Amino acid sequence: MAIDFTFTEEQEFFRQTVRDTVNRLILPKAAELDEKEEFPWDLWKEFAGLGYLGLRHEERYGGMATDTISQMIFYEELARGSCGFAMSVIMQILMGTYFISRFGNEEIKQRILVPAIKGEKIGTICFTEDQSGSDLGGTRTLATKVDGGWRINGRKQWITNGPIADFATVMATVDPKLGLKGLNFYLVERKTETRDGFVPGQKLHKLGSRCSVTGEVVLDHVFVPDENFLGEEVGKGVQYAGDILNEVRV
Ligand SMILES: Cc1cc2nc3c(=O)[nH]c(=O)nc-3n(C[C@H](O)[C@H](O)[C@H](O)COP(=O)(O)OP(=O)(O)OC[C@H]3O[C@@H](n4cnc5c(N)ncnc54)[C@H](O)[C@@H]3O)c2cc1C
Repeated sequence: MAIDFTFTEEQEFFRQTVRDTVNRLILPKAAELDEKEEFPWDLWKEFAGLGYLGLRHEERYGGMATDTISQMIFYEELARGSCGFAMSVIMQILMGTYFISRFGNEEIKQRILVPAIKGEKIGTICFTEDQSGSDLGGTRTLATKVDGGWRINGRKQWITNGPIADFATVMATVDPKLGLKGLNFYLVERKTETRDGFVPGQKLHKLGSRCSVTGEVVLDHVFVPDENFLGEEVGKGVQYAGDILNEVRV
């Protein structure tokens, strides 16, 4: 059976709209953004106001619920303007909010997903550690079950948006000896005076894509309540990771 690769009229219109926005808002300052190596807050707010951060999320949370092809068109056009800015935006749309949108309860979605789609809260995902990158089975960050929740201890690195994130989806193991079978995801918010949470570690300097800030995330025996466990059952984390990594790698 032949596959039709032509874009629909709506998709072509969408591409042109995104292209015009990128030409107007991003391209004129792309070089300057990377030279500064700072997160471009003004651009972020302006961009978030256009609604694109909700590209793949449900309309009832403020999303656009667009089709996958339109999402790919958006990522392509955005990265044409600035790879660095695209990294931060795509993190927010995909990995940073995926687990909350799939497994978070209604309270979490209202408190975190809705502001994330508006660009008011910034999210990230934490897989990587000093001893594990592609090899997720080498994850050492430990999640221990305690009364009413979990205690998470470890250190993540190379985290996109890490230095500025309000919330993170953290991969941790219930037992390093279990390898891939011990992995799960947890919602962890940034530490405040009244709430336990992660602390951003050192910011890492890069040669390219520099306006996307990257750094360490430190989890010092952080307590998270049971509802922050993002999954259906313990040990299925690697399966969920596969679901979203397939989409991200496209
Ligand atoms: C700019 C930037 C942003 C990032 N943002 C995030 C983030 O937000 N969150 C996060 O968790 N991580 C993030 N990362 C980390 C990224 O996901 C890891 O770099 C990636 O998983 C690869 O891990 P590694 O660097 O340890 O390389 P390794 O896993 O050590 O791989 C090194 C090389 O060995 C090859 N290799 C690995 N295993 C095998 C094997 N079994 N057989 C054959 N070849 C193999 C790989 O293909 C690669 O070429 C980021 C990295 C960068 C550079």
